Amino acid sequence: MSYSFFSLAREALRGHVGWRPAWRDAEPQPRYDAVVVGGGGHGLATAYYLASEHGMTSIAVLEKAWIGSGNAGRNTTIIRSNYLLPGNEGFYELSMKLWEGLEQRLNYNTMVSQRGVLNLFHSDAQRDAFARRGNAMRLHGVDAELLDAVQVRARHPYLDFDDARFPIRGGLLQRRGGTARHDAVVWGYARGADARGVDIVQNCEVTGIDVANGRVRGVRTTRGDIAAAKVALACAGNSSRVAALAGLRLPIESHVLQAFVSEGVKPLIDGVITFGAGHFYISQSDKGGLVFGGDIDGYNSYAQRGSLPVVEDVMQSGMAVLPMLGRLRVLRQWGGIMDMSMDGSPIIDASPVAGLYVNAGWCYGGFKATPASGWCFAHLIARDAPHPVAAAYRLDRFARGALLDERGAGAQPNLH
Ligand SMILES: Cc1cc2nc3c(=O)[nH]c(=O)nc-3n(C[C@H](O)[C@H](O)[C@H](O)COP(=O)(O)OP(=O)(O)OC[C@H]3O[C@@H](n4cnc5c(N)ncnc54)[C@H](O)[C@@H]3O)c2cc1C
Repeated sequence: MSYSFFSLAREALRGHVGWRPAWRDAEPQPRYDAVVVGGGGHGLATAYYLASEHGMTSIAVLEKAWIGSGNAGRNTTIIRSNYLLPGNEGFYELSMKLWEGLEQRLNYNTMVSQRGVLNLFHSDAQRDAFARRGNAMRLHGVDAELLDAVQVRARHPYLDFDDARFPIRGGLLQRRGGTARHDAVVWGYARGADARGVDIVQNCEVTGIDVANGRVRGVRTTRGDIAAAKVALACAGNSSRVAALAGLRLPIESHVLQAFVSEGVKPLIDGVITFGAGHFYISQSDKGGLVFGGDIDGYNSYAQRGSLPVVEDVMQSGMAVLPMLGRLRVLRQWGGIMDMSMDGSPIIDASPVAGLYVNAGWCYGGFKATPASGWCFAHLIARDAPHPVAAAYRLDRFARGALLDERGAGAQPNLH
């Protein structure tokens, strides 16, 4: 059922009795051509592009809880393509281009809002690093503007410029960056995939992966065994646990990342702002709440809740750049599990087990990657060859020492 002004008017006139569910709650079948494990944004986008771009329709997305119950529904919704390294920039720019046409393509309001992402800098050295990143972006055809302190003040006069512990010297702005409504992205891809025949099976946990003679045969689930020649893992924070079911050990640690939403206030922050002297970022939702977050919790966990020291750390960083934050009440707070890779870049690759594919290592930046991740993972699964813009995301780069370390911070997940 297409959503349009006319369908809205028609349903308004007949009491909204004609709307159908956006997707079926499918029963698992005994056999599919391909099974995608994980009903987050990446898994659903993968299934959608497998069906729409590669003509595969015998596909199931298996989700242990409800779709969007993981990080897809827990993130702070920032999208951007302001990357430095060649292996990353093309991929994230593909994602940005897919975001720009997503609503029309899915016929679904994913509330993509290109309100700008501004990374603040606080020292000469940081300005030089940001100028380098901006220049690299422009060489790749991506928009980037280096603002001085006067220009930043004109955009955001409420930031603490002069009295601050870390005076603001300027910022790197990507105007095409912004936000998108995370759960609408999940629902939009689910609806699009379902309309092309994909079975979306919720409350279906994968508990085993059948492998024989080095080739995948299917999966065992809490709702029965399912045979499939191709099994694609898109389990984000649970990637290591699910890959271990096939005997794989991934270079990933799982950590918690927390998010916070304040009480609603009048329109105040009309873009996304990140603090350059600490880990803090903030935007304002369409309902008025300030949405913000900071660093990951310092210990490994699979529990979707965070610890109080990080709450304090995030509030301190926020107050350092935006003192008025201290006058607001925090209404909601939650945590999600980050699949932190050892170089901060993701993995989209075939595994050593034939027919088993891995999509993981998204750290705390995988929401913006959702469209390109699905696009490239579907390409890999359908053609058994990496998509050119995701060719750097090989699993064996950790063995070869060919790390893709955007921050040059070393192989410590907590530094990315
Ligand atoms: C607080 C927070 C803020 C963030 N902010 C941003 C941001 O602003 N911008 C950005 O780009 N990124 C952000 N991220 C990161 C981003 O949300 C993730 O990188 C991305 O959502 C991961 O991909 P996904 O959507 O497919 O993951 P998920 O939604 O986590 O999907 C994985 C799914 O796999 C399922 N699963 C796991 N094990 C099994 C199993 N055995 N069987 C079946 N299903 C299973 C899970 O239930 C889950 O639904 C943030 C994350 C958090 C937690």
